Amino acid sequence: MTTRGHCLCCQTRWEYEGEVNWACYCHCDDCRRNCAAPVVAWLGVPLKNFRWLGLAPKTLESSKGVFRHFCRECGSPLGFEAAHYPGGMHLYAASLEKPEDFEPTFHVNFESKLPWLHMDDELPKYKGTLLNAPSDLREY
Ligand SMILES: [Zn+2]
Ligand SMILES: [Zn+2]
Repeated sequence: MTTRGHCLCCQTRWEYEGEVNWACYCHCDDCRRNCAAPVVAWLGVPLKNFRWLGLAPKTLESSKGVFRHFCRECGSPLGFEAAHYPGGMHLYAASLEKPEDFEPTFHVNFESKLPWLHMDDELPKYKGTLLNAPSDLREY
């Protein structure tokens, strides 16, 4: 199965084969600012199954070993890679061709959730980030 996504202007696109490693919401301040959004929905896929299509993205090393990919024309955030998550590409659920198909299964950095954002789902809510696997997270 191939899943595709694209930026606002559609010039930078991506696709991956197969399944996601995980799908979640992140409430950290970095993700929020990167997207100017109150919460960011993410999917993680194996880098070996992923490729860029169309116009190559521009990449910002936002902190040491952290790489944020975005469309060089319209500026949409498109991907995240980090030295501490080797072999993985993180993608924004809202850039999926069919974002309605996204199925988040947990929240990370829930301690940073904005007080005016209300999410009434029953998903597990964790403190801190996804380092290896969801099982490493601490319940919020
Ligand atoms: Zn674009
Ligand atoms: Zn985050």
